[in-house]
Amino acid sequence: MAFICPHCNCVAYTRTSRYLSPLTQEEYLQCTNIVCGHNFTLFRTVRETLSPPALPKAGIHIPMATKQRLIEMQLEIRRQKADTENQLELPGLTA
Ligand SMILES: [Zn+2]
Repeated sequence: MAFICPHCNCVAYTRTSRYLSPLTQEEYLQCTNIVCGHNFTLFRTVRETLSPPALPKAGIHIPMATKQRLIEMQLEIRRQKADTENQLELPGLTA
């Protein structure tokens, strides 16, 4: 897993990780910028369910995303896709 170093904005990669619970993982990352050298930890947590599992496990309770949240996510994905497509256009080559 990669993450942006909060100090130098270079890519930092996970060196190792461990599960703290079925829903939370702790990762140890190292910045790839040798001048920066930042080592840090982060948590990854399951936040919400977008579509219910076919094989739900007893004892695992993950809140369902609201319909409003799903609509917002869909709009954000469309915005990001449009931004990416706009960035690919070369200046002076559009009609
Ligand atoms: Zn860094």
